[in-house]
Amino acid sequence: MGELRNCPSCGKVFVKINRNLCPACIDKEEQDFEEVRKFLKEYPGASVPEISQVTGVDEDKILKWIREGRIDASYRVAAAVTCRRCGASISLGNLCSRCAQELASQIKSISRSRPVAQEPEEPKESKFSGMFVADRLRDKD
Ligand SMILES: [Zn+2]
Ligand SMILES: [Zn+2]
Repeated sequence: MGELRNCPSCGKVFVKINRNLCPACIDKEEQDFEEVRKFLKEYPGASVPEISQVTGVDEDKILKWIREGRIDASYRVAAAVTCRRCGASISLGNLCSRCAQELASQIKSISRSRPVAQEPEEPKESKFSGMFVADRLRDKD
């Protein structure tokens, strides 16, 4: 079972099973991943730009693997991933734990403070009572 879709990487039509890439691109990605992994075994402290330069793999891809936790965080890829909210460096994911907590509590309070009951709009008092036409706006006599 699966649905037909275009591979976002090469544009070919393929049957989506569980990955959003066609089999050829998955293979390619696995090869890239292997390269990165091998490189990091030898140079555990390498930064993402360094890894990218040596292996020829896109920095975006490497960052994605770090975010997904596929590249072991113990490699301590130097300041590779930062919190999308506050910029703190983190080892994986999109947010630091503090921002993740804050967001979670914000989401909770939003869903709580949305009453479905409809309040009738209050009729607004006329605000025109305090307005006067100013005679002094006249320029000329
Ligand atoms: Zn593809
Ligand atoms: Zn943060």
